[in-house]
Amino acid sequence: MIPYGRQRIEQQDIDAVVDVLRSDFLTQGRCVPEFEQKLSDYCHAQYAVAVNSATSALHLACLALELGEGDWLWTTPITFVASANCALYCGAQVDFVDIDPSTYNISVAALAEKLDWAQANARLPKVLVVVHLTGQACEMAAIYALAQQYDVRIIEDASHAIGAKYRGEPVGNGRYSDITVFSFHPVKIITTAEGGAAVTNVKLLADKMRLLRSHGVTRDETLMTHPSEGAWYYQQIDLGFNYRMTELQAALGLSQLTRLDEFVAARQALAQRYDALLSALPVTLPYQHFDAYSAYHLYVIRLRLSDIERSHAAVFDMLREKGVGVNLHYIPVHTQPYYRQIGFSEGMFPQAEVYYQEAISLPLFPDLSKSDQDYVVSVLAECLS
Ligand SMILES: *Cc1c(COP(=O)(O)O)cnc(C)c1O
Repeated sequence: MIPYGRQRIEQQDIDAVVDVLRSDFLTQGRCVPEFEQKLSDYCHAQYAVAVNSATSALHLACLALELGEGDWLWTTPITFVASANCALYCGAQVDFVDIDPSTYNISVAALAEKLDWAQANARLPKVLVVVHLTGQACEMAAIYALAQQYDVRIIEDASHAIGAKYRGEPVGNGRYSDITVFSFHPVKIITTAEGGAAVTNVKLLADKMRLLRSHGVTRDETLMTHPSEGAWYYQQIDLGFNYRMTELQAALGLSQLTRLDEFVAARQALAQRYDALLSALPVTLPYQHFDAYSAYHLYVIRLRLSDIERSHAAVFDMLREKGVGVNLHYIPVHTQPYYRQIGFSEGMFPQAEVYYQEAISLPLFPDLSKSDQDYVVSVLAECLS
């Protein structure tokens, strides 16, 4: 089976991890701070906080922005469940804004309309989580302007988008948001096995996330209620977690980061090749906004079902049967049983729901060979004939 995504691990990655294994520190050594430094440099951001997953980073980001009981967080229904769950971890409530039918990112028009309604009904969100689906940045300038107008904090869920650019600048630079979150799961652009990070330009937010990633415990005397009682002394000053990234993960991340631009360039080239090879088929190809340079985590096509004999599910199954490991990103979050149980139902976000009826993610990763890509295209053509 050709997978839909796959990490690229080379000898330098293996050497970097083995070096850590032979060293004194498997955790809390020099690699995590060095990875954070390199990551914030890459993104043109002031601070990076590395953690054990993007899910943890989203949780910490929400806590740093003081999301809590009585607050609302809004996000898009076409995302991984973690983008919404982070609100519930904090005791806040979730709502969604429908997607743009061309980019599949959050719709700016729908957002504007819903903010207007929310203001009139005293239901404005405290936090908006935008998701750069497939690696293509949302329309951040317009979203930021709305957020300023209604006093909403923005978290960019850039789990798909490290290495992407918006208006020529790296995603994560914080020009249009408070905090940006990345994932380093193996199917994403670079990997630390499991892992994630939050980047920000606000020291207070970075400090808060650092504190909460490690139990809310500090050895910084200036933060303590009274002077240190000795060299052993620490204080717990908040309720935190153990969300730390290990040295092995950070070493792998450091090694991967040196090849990030290369990975994205390879993904871009393969995506352009798909564009050309699929142009005659009854599918909608990924639209690229002129402001965005995508990291191409995913290559999503939409079936033009009225021009195809088979159903969406039949095409999907046939591709899998023939060894093409397609996937579907994503099932609209509001239709998940857990979300139905807290009041959501089908029909609430129609663009997201019609997208779900038509979308398929084709295999895309830096080591996808041209012959495997040709095979994917030929099987797809057969499925659609
Ligand atoms: C992968 C992903 C996450 C979660 O990332 P983990 O590192 O696995 O916790 C969150 N949001 C989006 C959009 C993702 O694709």
